[in-house]
Amino acid sequence: MEFKPANNIQDLQYFGEFGGVNPSISDSSTYTFMKAKTMFDTFEGNTDGCYLYSRHTSPSNLYLGEALAAMEGTETANVAGSGMGAITPTILQICGNGDHLVSSRTIYGGTYAFLKNFTPRMGIETSFVDITKLDIVEASINENTKMIYCETVSNPLLEVADIRGLASLAKKYNLKLVVDNTFSPLSISPAQLGADVVIHSLTKFINGSSDTMGGVVCGSAEFINSQKSVIDGASMLLGSSMDSLRSSSILKNMRTLHIRIKQHSNNAAYLAEKFEADGLKTVYPGLKSHPSHEIFKSMMNNEYGFGGMLTIDAGSLDKANELMELMQDRNLGYLAVSLGFYKTLFSAPGTSTSSEIPEEEQAEMGLTDGLIRFSIGLDNDIERTYQMMKECMLEVGVLETEVTV
Ligand SMILES: *Cc1c(COP(=O)(O)O)cnc(C)c1O
Repeated sequence: MEFKPANNIQDLQYFGEFGGVNPSISDSSTYTFMKAKTMFDTFEGNTDGCYLYSRHTSPSNLYLGEALAAMEGTETANVAGSGMGAITPTILQICGNGDHLVSSRTIYGGTYAFLKNFTPRMGIETSFVDITKLDIVEASINENTKMIYCETVSNPLLEVADIRGLASLAKKYNLKLVVDNTFSPLSISPAQLGADVVIHSLTKFINGSSDTMGGVVCGSAEFINSQKSVIDGASMLLGSSMDSLRSSSILKNMRTLHIRIKQHSNNAAYLAEKFEADGLKTVYPGLKSHPSHEIFKSMMNNEYGFGGMLTIDAGSLDKANELMELMQDRNLGYLAVSLGFYKTLFSAPGTSTSSEIPEEEQAEMGLTDGLIRFSIGLDNDIERTYQMMKECMLEVGVLETEVTV
């Protein structure tokens, strides 16, 4: 049966404490117990439906977690204060001293820095590989390997991981496949394709209003509960918890996620086709020229398209900067990192979000100086946007003026 993530979100029904149509916000960090024995049992993990302390769980966080688990089709989920606050405890819950993991080399800069510079201090080694080459991934697995880590659609080069292929490798070697799905919510559902754990930075498309940070780990009840254990759970003990006011606002924004993703995708597809036709080097998974186009198609939930992210190559960093400044002047978007906002956001990854990656490694993976990453907004008139962007490109010289004979 076809997986319908937006239906799963729609089908949740909540009543607030006073019959409100939104669930009540739990404005408390700590919770009372009528009996001392119940408090003891809760610490032992033996009571369901009892709240203890909001770093562990709050009602508002459970509501949001439930919606995200419904979206990914996992048993449960645990929200965190940021995307990194979801990623780091997941890695540390699975890997410890002496363990090894295989990671895509094109991942979010913060995750890359964590695996490259931080976890080696704890005796965790990472092999960074081209995740699109399953034979290379398999050859990197050794007897200490515990996990394969990747992004469904990678940042910033928009490489697409073959989740089914990676899941079968994970199964063969008894590893956990952990997938960061931040770039492709609704479009791709990694847990349905065999991923064990699915992570999102809620800061991006899922919240969509660039007003808060958030993260989530979606997985089996066994895994999520282990992360939340008061004895040795990495989420509980590292303490990146979300505040209830924020989780309630993110839950409200999730109700429009399906509409937003369709619009982001339609707009990005329109621009990508135009830019490519104009002769710009354009990377968008929806383009036939994209090396992972077919893989994306084979995994996608059709109605949501290929997502809102695309890149172009402006030729040089100077040209990229000039173009971005001009586009911001013309109010076509903001020169800002992050993604999923109603306005287009653009940045040059080499000097911003991926600057943690050394220059020679950037070159090797095809991350050029002139690369501009776009998170395409919800513009109602994308044709007008395109015309205005094209004018900017002509003015800056990223596009040549057409010579009429
Ligand atoms: C932004 C981002 C993160 C980190 O999330 P924060 O909410 O900024 O901590 C992780 N992965 C990807 C793909 C991202 O885009």
